[in-house]
Amino acid sequence: MAYLGLHALQHRGQESAGIVAANTRGMTQERDMGLVADIFTEDRLARLKGRHAIGHTRYSTAGSSQLINAQPFLIDCHRGKMAVAHNGNLLNAAALRLELERQGSIFSTSSDSEVILHLVARSSARTLEGALVDALSRVEGAYSLVFLMRDRLIAVRDPHGFRPLSLGKLDGAMVVASETCAFDLIGARFVRDVAPGEFLIIDSSGLRSEQPFPPQPTRQCIFEHVYFSRPDSMVFGRSVNQVRRKMGVALAREHPVPADIVVPVPDSGLVAALGFAGESGIPFEFGLVRNHYVGRTFIEPKQEIRHFGVKLKLNAVAALIKGKRVILVDDSIVRGTTSRKIVTMVRDLGAREVHMRISSPPTTGPCYYGVDTPRRDDLIASAHSVEEIRAFIRADSLGYLSLEGLRKAVDDGDTFCAACFDDNYPIAVNQRAGTQANLFDIPR
Ligand code: AMP
Repeated sequence: MAYLGLHALQHRGQESAGIVAANTRGMTQERDMGLVADIFTEDRLARLKGRHAIGHTRYSTAGSSQLINAQPFLIDCHRGKMAVAHNGNLLNAAALRLELERQGSIFSTSSDSEVILHLVARSSARTLEGALVDALSRVEGAYSLVFLMRDRLIAVRDPHGFRPLSLGKLDGAMVVASETCAFDLIGARFVRDVAPGEFLIIDSSGLRSEQPFPPQPTRQCIFEHVYFSRPDSMVFGRSVNQVRRKMGVALAREHPVPADIVVPVPDSGLVAALGFAGESGIPFEFGLVRNHYVGRTFIEPKQEIRHFGVKLKLNAVAALIKGKRVILVDDSIVRGTTSRKIVTMVRDLGAREVHMRISSPPTTGPCYYGVDTPRRDDLIASAHSVEEIRAFIRADSLGYLSLEGLRKAVDDGDTFCAACFDDNYPIAVNQRAGTQANLFDIPR
């Protein structure tokens, strides 16, 4: 079940994956670099013995991409064996780590998540639950966590609720996952979201819910709906598909332009482009085709045959493009390099005009709460106007969805974090220190 769940969550991270299984006798762990389907052979799955399990797919926001950082982490401390899987990014991990190291802690990874385990092991709280609350009261930032012990599973979402975490049920057993598409695959029923700040204990006596942290304003990640989540998931109580569709409709209203076809940049722009086409009445065409098999193991060819640009991933359908006025729809522009290459490719095939439409506002700030974005200096919109970006990507016109339009599409109700678009960071960040990415990999 955990293996299948991870398979459905593969889009959330492709660097490494792992599972820890447990029963009252002990715990077993299997993890590796790469994709879920490649890592978990029949042998490896057979070695995972247990009644309950947690799993993780990783893409790194802090700590380098290497096996020691692959989750779930499994440790043995005076409270017994314990495993953890973390989705999010901790903001004070560097300071906590230095403090813990000075007190004698020996860290074995360069990941921010390991700090939590050290804090749990050192807590003087009487119960394990108390130690977890103790530890989490000291960390700041974004965390959706699952802890596995021999006799229970604990799921926690940080008080702002930055990252998603949902609760499901299958044949009387409880399941938690970052996205509900994992429930669909294993035939579990979606029950509800784990609430921001909620501490859920699942054991043989059932489910217990606590709210041990001081409440904070809810700040769910708006970018989950823009890009990150799968459209077949319910995230933060909303259908990702329906929200993206609304973004596309609003985008067409805000930035109309006469054209012959609406073409999505697959897969990220698909649903918004449908909304755009429906609202504008301009035909939707699959004018770009994505190759889904460009894995990490792809062997870079020699320099002289390398000039394929973005074509390795995306190719345009010449017969659809030639002589047309094309509207391209994508979800976001980060550095601007992808958009520039796609516009160039479509122009080279004889498009008469190329208009770029983006179903979110200009990305002006990095995320410190669990989405991997480059430094502010590398975000094209942090220092350039829409007109300058249009010129850079060589489009005839460029239109971004307004923040107001985006908030309306997600039916915000002042519960979303949109710091990457409005610079309004819910937890203060030392912007010079940045995300602490790879901080622990630098020799000190
Ligand atoms: P860029 O070439 O840097 O402007 O990248 C833009 C493309 O990256 C768009 O197609 C987005 O869908 C995609 N994208 C946006 N955010 C992320 C992210 N955090 N990780 C990976 N891809 C992203």
